[in-house]
Amino acid sequence: MAPSNTAFSKNIINWYKVNGRKDLPWRKKTTPYRVWISEIMLQQTQVKTAIPYFKKFIKTYPSLKSILHASEDEILALWSGLGFYRRAQNIFKAKEIIKYHYKGKFPSKFEEIRELPGIGRSTAGAIMAIAFKQPYPILDANVKRVISRYLNINIAERKNFDKSMWEKSELLKPDSEIFDFTQGIMDIGATICTAKNINCEICPLENNCLTSLNSIEIIKNKPKKRKVKKEFLDLILAYTDKKILLFKRDENRFWQSLWMPLEVRDENQKVIKIKNAVSVNTYNILHKLTHLDLDIRITMLKFNKVFSVSSNMEYSWINTNEINNFGIPQPIKKILRKL
Ligand code: SF4
Repeated sequence: MAPSNTAFSKNIINWYKVNGRKDLPWRKKTTPYRVWISEIMLQQTQVKTAIPYFKKFIKTYPSLKSILHASEDEILALWSGLGFYRRAQNIFKAKEIIKYHYKGKFPSKFEEIRELPGIGRSTAGAIMAIAFKQPYPILDANVKRVISRYLNINIAERKNFDKSMWEKSELLKPDSEIFDFTQGIMDIGATICTAKNINCEICPLENNCLTSLNSIEIIKNKPKKRKVKKEFLDLILAYTDKKILLFKRDENRFWQSLWMPLEVRDENQKVIKIKNAVSVNTYNILHKLTHLDLDIRITMLKFNKVFSVSSNMEYSWINTNEINNFGIPQPIKKILRKL
């Protein structure tokens, strides 16, 4: 017999009221702006890692109004180290749309929110449910796992799995108390019914969950072998006692729009005159991106004074004590801090 939809949502709501992670910083004040930023951060980052970044972001831009005039560089600087920088670029694009199209007010309709860059159906649903308390379903990885186990749906055996899971998520959501329900199901997926473990004995869904009732063993998916390419990145860092020469990266495969030392490519080999340097050092770093292993060589060239360069790329001599104000990839930042 199929478990009851009402029992599902009721048990989650009651559980959340007592056990929910209400101390997470984005849950303390749930404005559409704060929910939006937190949801974007959590798209590809774990809660523990996201917390300090969220706090720093909100300290700098506490409200939607305060971010409306931020530049893409300023937003990227705050994102520095969090990775998946396209998310920060999408925040910039979305707030520009909000500024010009919605007169600086966060849109309140699902369709309008979903149209904003970087926001898919689940993120739009989360903003509707948490910030506007409207009964919209969500389907992030945690929710998908909880529902599929509750109904004992085998991911591997189902065609159109996502389509069918959206239907289930829609059916299982309550019409009221959507705020507690949405946060509750996210928390259960993150802490009780996780990818690695199931703790049915403390789960509020235990009495109706088909996986638990039938004592079905969870088959753990073997971690997929990471298919990665290797790439060599040859960089030249020119610096003086107080300044560093950085270029805004125009390549869209990774680290787009971040500030970097000069990448040695055919067309820009001669931008920096190596023979004028007073000292030369080389650092090698290995850095893993999700889809790419970067083998980075940085040739550090010290100069007595700054110079202008002839380049089509945007560049800037920045003060060494200002590197935190620029969006700079984490491995490069580590090297810069040694100067
Ligand atoms: S009862 Fe067990 S399997 Fe079912 S949702 Fe809860 S933790 Fe997951």
